[in-house]
Amino acid sequence: MENDVEKIIALLKKTTKREKELIRKAYQFAKIAHQGQKRNNGEPYFNHLFETAKNIAKLNMDAVSVVAGFLHDTLEDTKTEAKTIEKEFGKEVLFIVEGVSKIGTLRYHGRDRHNEALRKLLFATSKDLRVLIVKFCDRLHNMQTLSFVSKEKQERIARETLEIYAPIAYRLGIRKLSRKLEDLSFPFVYKEGFDEISSLFEKNYDQKLNNLERFRKSVSKELAKENLTNFHSDYRVKSIYSLYKKYLKYKKDIEKIYDILAMRLMVKKTEDCYQVLGIIHASWKPFPGRIKDYIAFPKQNGYQSLHTTVFTGNGDLVEIQIRTEEMHKNAEYGIAAHPLYKAGRKNKKEIAPWIHAMLPHSINEIKKDFLSERIFIFTPKGDVVDLPVGSSSIDFAYNIHSDIGDKMSGVKIDGRLRSISSILKGGEIVEIITNKKAHPNRKWLSYVKTSLAKKHIKNST
Ligand code: MN
Repeated sequence: MENDVEKIIALLKKTTKREKELIRKAYQFAKIAHQGQKRNNGEPYFNHLFETAKNIAKLNMDAVSVVAGFLHDTLEDTKTEAKTIEKEFGKEVLFIVEGVSKIGTLRYHGRDRHNEALRKLLFATSKDLRVLIVKFCDRLHNMQTLSFVSKEKQERIARETLEIYAPIAYRLGIRKLSRKLEDLSFPFVYKEGFDEISSLFEKNYDQKLNNLERFRKSVSKELAKENLTNFHSDYRVKSIYSLYKKYLKYKKDIEKIYDILAMRLMVKKTEDCYQVLGIIHASWKPFPGRIKDYIAFPKQNGYQSLHTTVFTGNGDLVEIQIRTEEMHKNAEYGIAAHPLYKAGRKNKKEIAPWIHAMLPHSINEIKKDFLSERIFIFTPKGDVVDLPVGSSSIDFAYNIHSDIGDKMSGVKIDGRLRSISSILKGGEIVEIITNKKAHPNRKWLSYVKTSLAKKHIKNST
């Protein structure tokens, strides 16, 4: 059978018997729950759940995440109730499935203000990062099958993926996923750019690859002379979207981009990285200004590696990346590689140093800067507005539009009529009731928190 659950289980390392059973159960559960439903391309809907779960397993996430992957659409699209999921699969699974469903109701409008709110909101769910990772894997499969939806939807989803999902995956260090999401979105969002860069890319590609293979052999030979044989090497081809970004940055001069193809050397220990770099520089002249020590100074997302670009001797320049196997795993899977952050509640001592380097700049910083002082409020249509803690429904109204604030006569919070001075709580759905004859009142000034609302009230009273 094509959709064999055992294939997914085989992708996971260190799974207990009980976990395997739970995954098989989720597989069956999803199959029955979505029975008869079809995707846009006519396939059984279940294929989507299977592929999502597989994407999750490929990141080597835990069994709970894989189970949640199978179940992630049951609350939205089937008659399954939350309490059933909790009873059959546990609290953690339910938490993730509910989180993923909630993210699914957010709407994207391509306006900067909303993008920022969405990004922050997505991070807000990072109480359990598995919510984000399941959502990313769901989106990855939707992107892989995007050609089957309407043109309009294609563009909207691709843009949302490119501007919201991929950057978050990148900041979490899950570069493998971030690259995939970008490359799948790119042709739908920037069609012309995509065509232009693809044709340039193809032109030189084969020859460059041949040269690189020859160069890789000479490097191995030099390293062997110094008794360094315990390593492996490969190439990486720059993802087409990051190539495109660089191409624009260098004003469309592709000759200036040296890392379209890069060689990678993975060694055992950190010391080996520096030794390898030394040997390479002794044999090939490095290109000035391109030597980067991301081991001593990791990138903000925790990325560690040595980079150098050398003259190969036949007119070519090649970027070489040198790192340990462990650094390599982190570079590709980031936070997803760390069981600690899957659940986010184990012993702090287990945190790898690179996570320390990364956290202050991403999750923690964002939490500190925004989340503790910000709340996310929804319009009845699912738009997100982020406001400072303590904001009232009047702040919310002015934040949507000054006219709505000025004509506000009442408010419904989570479907119930409330006083317009009500202080909002994160996650509430707020509907502003307007009236042509309504007018702001000086007294409102004491109910509002945002300077935007204050300004408008002062101007209109
Ligand atoms: Mn889905």
